[in-house]
Amino acid sequence: MSKKKYNFGAGPCILPDSVLNSASDAVKDYNRTGLSILEISHRSSEFEKIINECEDLVRELLKVPADYSILFLQGGASTQFSMVPMCLMQPHKGAVYLDTGYFSLKAIKEARMFGPVQVVASSKDRDYDYIPVGYHIPRGSAYFHCTSNNSIEGTEIFDFPETDVPIVCDMSSDIFSREINVADFGLIYAGAQKNMGPAGLTLVIVKKALLKGIQNLIPSMSDYRIYNDHNSMFNTPPLFSIYVAMLNLRRLKEMGGIKQAEETNIAKAKLLYDAIDSSECFYGLADKADRSRMNITFKMYNREREPEFLNFAESRGVVGIGGFGSVGGFRASLYNAMDMLGVEFLVQCMSDFIHKDLFKNFKLKQI
Ligand SMILES: *Cc1c(COP(=O)(O)O)cnc(C)c1O
Repeated sequence: MSKKKYNFGAGPCILPDSVLNSASDAVKDYNRTGLSILEISHRSSEFEKIINECEDLVRELLKVPADYSILFLQGGASTQFSMVPMCLMQPHKGAVYLDTGYFSLKAIKEARMFGPVQVVASSKDRDYDYIPVGYHIPRGSAYFHCTSNNSIEGTEIFDFPETDVPIVCDMSSDIFSREINVADFGLIYAGAQKNMGPAGLTLVIVKKALLKGIQNLIPSMSDYRIYNDHNSMFNTPPLFSIYVAMLNLRRLKEMGGIKQAEETNIAKAKLLYDAIDSSECFYGLADKADRSRMNITFKMYNREREPEFLNFAESRGVVGIGGFGSVGGFRASLYNAMDMLGVEFLVQCMSDFIHKDLFKNFKLKQI
């Protein structure tokens, strides 16, 4: 099987052919058990092996220290917007948030239902095209929340603040794309469908000391401690999503791990940004220093011609590059499974589009 389209969609993400092949085999007959992966019990030894391998791979690939728990949840990253404050906020200990765009605003909105929220900095003043710096995180706050990669606006945090306050980070769209120091964070969460696997699974990596400090009365399904105590199987977990994520992480390891993936991701992003920067008709949306390597946002100087480029790209099998509704323009997502050849193909597409009618009154950049 080989897919015929270049998927630059922001999520659910592109997955490697080899992963899809193994997944489809497992749907028919998992490991010659005579059962589909969709039918096996989460209490079976087969599934126990899968979830344990998945956890081991997360731990190994991200070098997760022993005093951190790895949990598999459902409800997407959006559920974490409320679960984090429900578990970690206290009436006398508010939380601090960094506002870097669409998803951080959603997290802020949910957190306000559970206690005092202070937004320490925001890049709203410039349509979220940069990452604020130089803000102060008050000591004694319950936690500081940030979004490492702003999938819609196309910015990414490369330097996290130094603080004694536990950092909670939404890493949905750049987890496993680059090396991180897990020990710098109190809690990391990520909806799996951006760079890890299929939708339906949410990864949480949390410092055990933070779990111990939870004092609030919390419904079981929103309580990290319950997932921790039941090896993420307090209720039926999303078996298939965990299986496919495990296959994808297995492949990531075989390909050389995160260090290798990061190098490739840097090269891929550079290729596309260089093409945008040197182009006469496209321009990038984010500040150069804060540009995301995962979600590259750009527009055309002549906005009226954007639908034409979308169609042109689609006719060549390039899909998913339409920008998010409120932002418009284009967004090319270069998750791990998008290889260099795919990015080269997109760049060629842009170049061919420019040249096909360069002389037909193109509105160019004013020099
Ligand atoms: C996609 C995304 C979300 C929302 O994820 P769901 O799993 O759909 O709830 C949250 N945060 C970031 C950074 C995202 O990219």
